Amino acid sequence: MSLPLKELIRIGQNQLRQAGIADADRDAKDLYCYLDRLDAVGLMMHWQNVLQDNTCEAYFQLIERRVSGEPIQYITGQQEFMGFSFKVTPAVLIPRQDTETMTEDAVEIIKKGSLRGEKYTEAGIKDVLDLCCGSGAIGLSIAKLCPGIKMTCSDISGEAVKIAEENAASLNLKSVRFEVGDLFAPFCGKLGKKKFDLIISNPPYINTGVIATLQKEVRDHEPLSALDGGPDGLTFYRRIADEAPLHMNKNGILMMEIGYDQRQAVMQLLTEAEKFCDIICLKDLAGKDRIIAARLKGKKDK
Ligand code: GLN
Repeated sequence: MSLPLKELIRIGQNQLRQAGIADADRDAKDLYCYLDRLDAVGLMMHWQNVLQDNTCEAYFQLIERRVSGEPIQYITGQQEFMGFSFKVTPAVLIPRQDTETMTEDAVEIIKKGSLRGEKYTEAGIKDVLDLCCGSGAIGLSIAKLCPGIKMTCSDISGEAVKIAEENAASLNLKSVRFEVGDLFAPFCGKLGKKKFDLIISNPPYINTGVIATLQKEVRDHEPLSALDGGPDGLTFYRRIADEAPLHMNKNGILMMEIGYDQRQAVMQLLTEAEKFCDIICLKDLAGKDRIIAARLKGKKDK
């Protein structure tokens, strides 16, 4: 079965479309590019080529994996985030576009002290923690875009931290620190608590009961431990609201991604913790509530 490339891709697109894959046309092309190590231009240049049997077979095996619901990013092993290429495996959540918004906000606050153009802090930000870092997408992008800061990335999953370390190496980031442990556990040393100027986090925040209703790509392939936020989805926000203040420098800032319907609950948790002020919510590109920012209360803050 030797086929011209354009015919092979047409068949691949049809198979993905019939399986109800949303981005069938693009995925079919991307899977070929991955197989033959081509970019979009290379694909066009090979468009009329007639392919060998074994190439067609290898291609249809990839199509089959995608048909069965495996996310394309786990097949190709990579995802773009903030213009950087991140290695991803099933040990880490696939970085989402929604999360780029929070990363951009963090870069703004580090560089200008403002959030979406509004002054938010006078204090300089040097020491930054990406808590629950997964692939390292947030923390490593910030480290690339703000070379003056000290970045630490931590996660409960040693496997995830290994991927984040590989990503740091391929992004040529040499001074990022990595820790494995449950939330702030790695930062509670005998010499006292390690403190940061900015703690940023995309913790697991899906209600346990909702997980079964997620797209099969997410539900059956992404790490449950990166998604499951407990019975009400708020377990990690509760713990972070409680523990983060002990790890924040004076004027420290906390930024967290939230689910589109968690604004009120998370703002309330932070208010009730009585340690935060200037608690605000920012929206993602789709106009949904997505980010909560808060500042550690100082003596002068109400
Ligand atoms: N945004 C992810 C999703 O909807 C969830 C990420 C998380 O739990 N932190 O699948």
